[in-house]
Parts: sequence; structure tokens; C-alpha cells
Amino acid sequence: MRKNDEFILEIIDVTNEGSGVGKLDGMAVFVPLTAVGDVVKVKVLKVKKNYAYGKALEIITPSKERIENNCPYFNRCGGCVFRHIGYKAELELKSNKVYEVIKRIGGVDLTPQPILYDECDRYRNKAQYPLSENGGVGFYAFHSHRIIECEDCVLQPEIFSKITDAVSSFVRQYSISIYNEEKHNGLLRHLYIRKGEISGEIMVCFVINGDTLPKSEIIIERLKETCGDALKSVVLNMNNKDTNVILGDKCETLFGSDYISDTLAGVKVRLSPLSFYQVNTVMANKLYKKAAEYAKPDGKNIIDLYCGAGTIGLSMAKEAKSVIGVEIIEAAVKDAEFNAKENGINNARFICGDAKTAAEALRKEKIKPDTVIVDPPRKGCDSVLIRIIANDFCVDSVVYISCDPATLARDIKIFGEEGYNLVEYTPADLFPRTSHCEAVCLLSKK
Ligand code: SAH
Repeated sequence: MRKNDEFILEIIDVTNEGSGVGKLDGMAVFVPLTAVGDVVKVKVLKVKKNYAYGKALEIITPSKERIENNCPYFNRCGGCVFRHIGYKAELELKSNKVYEVIKRIGGVDLTPQPILYDECDRYRNKAQYPLSENGGVGFYAFHSHRIIECEDCVLQPEIFSKITDAVSSFVRQYSISIYNEEKHNGLLRHLYIRKGEISGEIMVCFVINGDTLPKSEIIIERLKETCGDALKSVVLNMNNKDTNVILGDKCETLFGSDYISDTLAGVKVRLSPLSFYQVNTVMANKLYKKAAEYAKPDGKNIIDLYCGAGTIGLSMAKEAKSVIGVEIIEAAVKDAEFNAKENGINNARFICGDAKTAAEALRKEKIKPDTVIVDPPRKGCDSVLIRIIANDFCVDSVVYISCDPATLARDIKIFGEEGYNLVEYTPADLFPRTSHCEAVCLLSKK
């Protein structure tokens, strides 16, 4: 196989990143934006030892899963990968991916519970937009920092496009300089918007490489016109570092409150710009409900590791005997403490620190939880942490919530070696139309 070769290929699988895969002469050929069952004319773009990348020039026979895509940016934007197939097909595919990886890496052959899902458009409550040199707002292309300008993203609330529009015209009118990643110069790095799904409250945050945003009083007035009373907070976030991490650690409120609030799983939550909050509120409710089913918090001492603003633990605190949350971001811990008070919960406390280090400290305090909940970022749990949970806390059960099935599967294997069986798991589609899938698992002591 050589670059620029053209041939007919049947798509037989989809990668974890959502790309279609076919096979020719024993070589896997990855063809983005195709679906299982498509027969396509492919042009080879790049050849490696055992696989190749191609581009679909023509769809000769379409897959029966294909639907009309309703987003004009779909082929270019790096956000969605499944706008060309029906949602049911996507759900099946995601559930299978979770099953396969738990079997292959985790070494456990267990059928998943039915995948949890809800609406697949307008489900997000948060967007972080990069800006193009000319002030356009958009998203990055796949595996790239090339910006695809986007007037309206169908995953976001409609008001977000009105806000991005207002910011673009402001930036252009007042020649606000845009940050250039390569040269590490220019002011405005990202536009970050959050909206409480239940409260409707909106926060607009300008991430800047500097200390002040010129003419900020003008954009504040325009945002008030755009959002009305829903605008609760306009914030600057200073990020002067040469990094691709979006947010810096320092914030300054330009208008309104330092926070917005919302309600999740019956808990009133306050959110500062730096606190993690599940981006799909409707689905987070379903996920937490399943987590509670697995944790059976009644009368138990619970440790909630990687707790963000404390939401999971707090949603179980009324039934539980006690809750200890651990989180590394200080602002999130402050939010968690505030959220506990706001909700009249006084059997919960929070520790700011790394999950493993905090677990070691709790072990020294001779704390004996009944159940541990972990909800780590994509890289999963530290193996030392898993050993502390298994051998020192010796809990009856672990509820593992994961946004990366591969690291989840790796950790299931380690839990297995430490004496814990995977009893049941439920995939949850918190990120419809993208390649990502969440899962919640119940592990029990053998
Ligand atoms: N359980 C929360 C947050 C989950 S996201 C919720 O449902 O909203 C993962 C969280 O882990 C983030 O808040 C992140 O700041 C935190 N985190 C990342 N690395 C960590 C570490 N090493 N120790 C403790 N918390 C960490």
C-alpha cells in the first residue's frame, strides 16, 4: 500500500476515537467520518508499518446507520465524531467499546448494564472557546490547534452563540489582541462560559495572558444586554504561562458574583470558575443516581476521592453516616465546604490534596470507611492508592466512576489483584456525539 493509492473498502469497526476502520491485505485502514457497514472509495494519506490512514472520497454503499448530519462544522471541527450515525447506533457502539476494553485490559468478561443516556444535542453547560487571530470564536480541529470558527455549536445552549457573537464584535471593534500560542504573545486566550442547567445562571470568563482586559466595562454592558438577568458573573482568569492548560490559578471578578449556582442530584451547588462540574447536568443526575445505587450509602462512612465541588458525596450525605471528600483544587474544596453548609449537611468534611497522599493520611488517622467512591481524571488512579483502598481501608465496596474506559480497565485489573471483583457496571453517555464515554462500576471484596 502506498500514499495516494485508491481502492474500495468496507468499514468493519470504529476506533476509540470514533474513526471507521477497514482491512486490506491484512492492514488496518483508518478512515474518519465513516460508519460500520459503509463501502467507501478511499484514498491513502499516510502509510505506517501495520496500518494506514485514508480519506473517504466517495460513499459507494452507505451504512444503514447513517443519518443526515445537522451541523455544518462536523467534518472540520474536532468535537463531534458521530453526527453521521443515529444515536442508537452510537450508544450501542459506546457500550460495546466499554465492554471490550474491560474484557481485554481488565480481564473481566461481564456484560454491561444498559447504557444511560438522554438528549444528544444542547446538553453541555460549559464551553471553552479558543479565538482565531481575527477575533472569531470556535473550536480546535482534530489533533490540532488550528481553529475552526463556529457560529453555533449544537452541543451548547443557544445563548452561548449569542455570547460568542457579542465577544467577537467587541474584540474586533476594540482591536483586543488574541493570544498566539507559538509566539506566546497577545492578550485573550480563551472565552469560557458556564450556565447552570437548572438555575439558568450564566458566568462569562475571559482567560487572558496579562492582568487587565481593556474596555471591559463595554463588554460587560453588552453581555448584560445579551443575557439579561441570567448574567450573574463576569470573571477574568489570568494565565500568563506558556502552556496548553486553559485556566490559570488566579481569578478576578469584573461584574456580579464570584460564583454561579446550580442544583445537581438534589444538592444546591456553588461553582467558582476553577471548580470542576459535570458538563452534562441531566446525565450527571442519572450517573449519580446509579452511583448511589452501587454505594448504598445508608448508615455508611464514605470517602469520596477526586470529589470536585463535593457533589457526589453531598448527594449521599443525608443517608450516609459520614462523608470525607478529597480534591486537589483549592477553589473546588472551598466550594465543597460551602455547598455542605448551604445544604445543611454537617456530617461531611473535605481535604485539599492529592488523593493518594490524603488516603495515606487518613490511614494514619485510622479512618475506616465502608465504601470508597473514586472519580479520577482520565489518567485513572495511582496503583498505590488502589492498594491503600484495598489493603488498609479494606472497604466492602468501591464505586469507580470513570471518563476513560482504558484506564478504568487497567485499574479494575489492579483491584482484581488486590481482592476486588467487578460486580456490575453501567456505561453512561455524558458526551453524546463525541467519542467519549463515562462508566460507573461496583467493585466488591471477594
Ligand atoms: N467527582 C466530581 C469531580 C470529578 S472530575 C464530580 O462529579 O463533579 C475529577 C476531579 O479530580 C477534578 O475536580 C480534579 O480537580 C480532581 N483531581 C485531579 N487530580 C487529582 C489528585 N491527584 N488528587 C485529588 N483530586 C484530583
